[in-house]
Amino acid sequence: MQPAIFLDRDGVINENRVDHVLRWDDFAPIPGSLDALRRLSRLGLPIFVVTNQAVVGRGALTPAALDELHARMGTLAARHGGRITHVYTCPHRPEERCLCRKPRPGLFLRAAWERGLDLARSYYVGDALSDIAAGQAAGCVTIAVQTGRGRTQLALPEARRYSGYHLARDLADAARFIGRHRALATRGMGARLAPALLGAPAALGVTDFGDMQPATKVAWQTTATEVTPGHCQQRHQYRQYRRGL
Ligand SMILES: [Mg+2]
Ligand SMILES: [Zn+2]
Repeated sequence: MQPAIFLDRDGVINENRVDHVLRWDDFAPIPGSLDALRRLSRLGLPIFVVTNQAVVGRGALTPAALDELHARMGTLAARHGGRITHVYTCPHRPEERCLCRKPRPGLFLRAAWERGLDLARSYYVGDALSDIAAGQAAGCVTIAVQTGRGRTQLALPEARRYSGYHLARDLADAARFIGRHRALATRGMGARLAPALLGAPAALGVTDFGDMQPATKVAWQTTATEVTPGHCQQRHQYRQYRRGL
């Protein structure tokens, strides 16, 4: 099973809008994000965008219109030398309590089932605390960016409950980190060095919250690194995760 790179959309690739991205004119790439996508594409891993789009469930945007928007995003990325393998969307409203709306890891698990991905060796870049929770619940190496809602979210008091993630300025910074992390991992040193990376992020040019309190553990998170043997076990662990909610 191969690893993948997961990216949040709003606030990571394009500017987050309080009134949501409802048409292509609303889609404003964050400066440098398209170049970052190109850099990430060169790593040879599939790139999946995972995005909560409750606007669909609320009827403000049709699934077809959202698909069209994502197709144009893919085209724009391709024009800049990048490649988005697929976009996984949660169309549900929060009150529907679905299993795919982040901070739940359903979109990641679905991608893993469909594509045979090793989530424990995968990366996730997001801008909100719910992204950190989702990425960690999925067992991915999780990176928070300070674009979009990032700066505001990380300043919230509850942000202190989160730890074990990497902090990057923006997607370009995250891409550099992932490149270096991959280089170490593919030399077979990843397992040994990964914890060290968390302890010495400055060496990689990525800052980390060294003074953070230990995370309030997501129940499922503790077993997340064991998510490799295949679909059945992932489903089993996902059931355990649901029970823990
Ligand atoms: Mg976001
Ligand atoms: Zn959903």
